Amino acid sequence: MSKRQVLIYQAAVGRPIRHFEGVSFKIADMAVKLAASRLLILDAARALDRGETARKEGAVAKLYSTEAAFEVAHESLQVHGGIGYTKDLPVERYFRDARFMMIGGGTSEIMRYIIQREVYKEMGRPS
Ligand SMILES: Cc1cc2nc3c(=O)[nH]c(=O)nc-3n(C[C@H](O)[C@H](O)[C@H](O)COP(=O)(O)OP(=O)(O)OC[C@H]3O[C@@H](n4cnc5c(N)ncnc54)[C@H](O)[C@@H]3O)c2cc1C
Repeated sequence: MSKRQVLIYQAAVGRPIRHFEGVSFKIADMAVKLAASRLLILDAARALDRGETARKEGAVAKLYSTEAAFEVAHESLQVHGGIGYTKDLPVERYFRDARFMMIGGGTSEIMRYIIQREVYKEMGRPS
């Protein structure tokens, strides 16, 4: 967003929108989702480094981080308002890319299938 657009935007609402709790809490939730995603990805990477298959860890990390990325991009677009929907900013691109990651490389449904299969294996009750 250009400096001029920021100024127009701020003038429209009287103060920077991050000062509104409804917006700043979204930012906090986004930060939590990104931090949790990083930890789950590290957990899967460490299992692979130990020579494990990391089937469950990988599927958990892929499922959570891609759905979190979509939620973060969705909220980010909302916070940016109308300009977030245009190609003036990269937000709409992040939104489309994040949505694809819930399909490409194994859909969210397949990740859930893998996770439940590994959970039942751990319980000694393979399907
Ligand atoms: C832009 C784009 C780029 C791509 N790039 C690549 C690439 O570089 N390399 C590559 O290998 N592939 C690529 N793909 C393909 C992508 O990996 C597949 O689209 C994805 O794996 C889903 O397969 P599918 O489209 O055949 O859907 P399907 O397998 O037909 O699934 C359709 C729906 O049914 C659900 N479903 C299927 N089986 C089950 C089940 N057992 N239980 C519950 N639900 C189920 C799926 O989750 C999905 O919601 C790309 C796709 C797109 C759109």
